[in-house]
Amino acid sequence: MKPDYILSRHPFEGCVAPFETAGIVLFGAGFDGTSSYRPGSRFAPTAIRAETLYSQENYSPYFQKDLTDLPLHDLGDIDIPFGDKELTLRRIRETAVTLLTAGKKPLAIGGEHLISLPLIEATLEKYPDLRIVQLDAHLDLMDELFGERISHGTVMRRAHDLLGDGRIYQTAIRSGSREEYEFAAEHTRLFQFNVDDFCKIAEELAGFPVYVTIDLDAFDPALLPGTGTPEAGGIFFPEFIRFLEALLPLNIIGGDMVELSPQIDPTHNSTIVAAKALREILMVMASC
Ligand code: MN
Ligand code: MN
Repeated sequence: MKPDYILSRHPFEGCVAPFETAGIVLFGAGFDGTSSYRPGSRFAPTAIRAETLYSQENYSPYFQKDLTDLPLHDLGDIDIPFGDKELTLRRIRETAVTLLTAGKKPLAIGGEHLISLPLIEATLEKYPDLRIVQLDAHLDLMDELFGERISHGTVMRRAHDLLGDGRIYQTAIRSGSREEYEFAAEHTRLFQFNVDDFCKIAEELAGFPVYVTIDLDAFDPALLPGTGTPEAGGIFFPEFIRFLEALLPLNIIGGDMVELSPQIDPTHNSTIVAAKALREILMVMASC
């Protein structure tokens, strides 16, 4: 059942359901091989889990639930062959297929944003009507980055190749090339600078299976500096909660949280914010 390249880990605090009864299965995919500026997100899954042991309650005052009451299982981490991008993406995809086939909702901890691509491929196979919600500072719509077509800077362009027009919702965005913005205007649903405009229309996604991808650089670097490509002008935690509240009525069938580079932030604050964000995402996914 469990692929042999899954490494056991001490679970994310509160994710205590056995695999068999879990509806949501967490796993780490710490690949950072195409990071264009500051790598290090390979360390995020371990850092986030470790932080929760000491600093975080299982109870969410925002959603009034306790992680231990929810059907959550932490599978462990994919053993990443760092020199081999194709094999890495294949393992992530296979893991997602295994979980989806078993009737689970996968939630991956990156790693860089490229890890979303094999997850999106796998979920699209099961849910042809899939919609994507991307919280990010960056459009990630480049056709290539440094000559690479498969990269963390091209991930949403490749997702668009698979999904087509009008099915990728991008919010909190504040960075991209002129070409990316022109592409977004034609082909995606773009809600710039904050989450308010997205929250107003989120309910139009009701009835569709939704994959949620959270690039932690959506947060302002004043709150979360430990990320590969920080971008000023981002959201803070109350806006993040508003974003999640807008997702509550939707059918979220999978997701990921990417781009934490814990070693960049010696205060650990970035990791603490990421761990809390993950707790709240789990609350929302378990309510769907
Ligand atoms: Mn991104
Ligand atoms: Mn980004």
